[in-house]
Amino acid sequence: MLFCPKCSQEIDERDNYCRRCGRALKPGTGFWYSHSGIILLMLVLGPFALIPLYMSKILSLRAKAIYCAVITLFTLYLGYVCWQIFTLTQQMLEATLGMPY
Ligand SMILES: [Zn+2]
Repeated sequence: MLFCPKCSQEIDERDNYCRRCGRALKPGTGFWYSHSGIILLMLVLGPFALIPLYMSKILSLRAKAIYCAVITLFTLYLGYVCWQIFTLTQQMLEATLGMPY
């Protein structure tokens, strides 16, 4: 016999979610592995969202491929913006202090 850790309802070992309260019972089925969870993690963690994306049992292979491409592009864009800020800062330092850093 297995029981839900949240509401103590009896559960089947094949269930991914509790039938009474809806709690995720298996790894890879919680909120962070859903569509909204992956998008949220991507915005916060960037490329590290690839880990829950890979572990997710909710998303289809096609959805995973799309999210993987989006996360990669998002990471590249973030890197590009960081590089822009870096070079701009260098230029400003050179202009104000008159020497290269
Ligand atoms: Zn429950």
